[in-house]
Parts: sequence; C-alpha cells; structure tokens
Amino acid sequence: MVRVGIGYDSHRFADGGPLTLGGIEIPFDRHLVGHSDGDAIAHAITDAILGAAGAGDIGELFSDSDPANRGRDSIEMLAVAVSRCRAAGYGVSQVDVTVIAEAPRVGPHREAMRAVLSRALAVTPAAVSLKGKTNEGMGWIGRGEGIACIAVATLAPNEDRR
Ligand code: MG
Repeated sequence: MVRVGIGYDSHRFADGGPLTLGGIEIPFDRHLVGHSDGDAIAHAITDAILGAAGAGDIGELFSDSDPANRGRDSIEMLAVAVSRCRAAGYGVSQVDVTVIAEAPRVGPHREAMRAVLSRALAVTPAAVSLKGKTNEGMGWIGRGEGIACIAVATLAPNEDRR
C-alpha cells in the first residue's frame, strides 16, 4: 500500500547570510532563525515522510529543548527520519515541495537542492520536486518576514519500492 504524508514548516528571517535552504547555502542577505539551521524545506519534507510512515514528527524526534539539536544540520535530521521510516517498513518513493517566499527564488538553486535532498532520501533527483512561488506581497510572507514550505511525500513498503 502506498502511504501519503504532508509536512509544513515556517521560519523567520534575520539579518545576515548565507541562507541554508534545501540542504545548500545560498548567498543572501538574511538567514532563517531556528534551533537547528532553520532549513524549512528539509523540515517540511522530514515531517511529510514521518507522517506517511506514521512514525511521529520532527519535534518529537529532535526536541528544540535539547542542546544537542542546536544548530543541527537538517539534512542529517532528514536522513535519520528516512532511517526511521525504513525501520517502520517503508522507503520514500517521491516528494513534492512548494516553497512560499518573496525571495530568494528557488529556480536558480533547484538542481543543487534536489541533488542534496535526493541523497538524504535515497531516491533519484527526479523523485524530488521543488516549486517556488511568492505570496503576491500579502501578509507576513509578502512582507519578507519569513519562508513557509509545504511538502507531500509518498512511501511504499520496503519490498515494493519504486
Ligand atoms: Mg523548522
């Protein structure tokens, strides 16, 4: 049986770059504030795959009150979540992500992000879809206060992965 999970994450911008997003460092004048490195794309995908596997959520796996998680590499956290899914009997089939931000644009960084994320997910880059859009200037995203990400993941039983 194919399983589907959804993940959402948002982080606030603060002055000073670079910006860690989608597992890469982007030259930018702001960064995302978080207990970890603030990588909202990686966090949304992590919650999507954990949700699909019925294996909890990112906050349970990596408590933000645990000093060990301070500044933690979110790609490493994603890989741990993949292991947890595997232990629950599932492998990732594909993920689809929408990044909502006025800036930066995702397009120029898409292939580099797909390369890093696909390695952590143990899928081909073609199985990682990343789409960027603005919020048309509306609300906190429109004012450039932060980034929101929505991710959907499908998982298949380990013996039936494709
Ligand atoms: Mg987060």
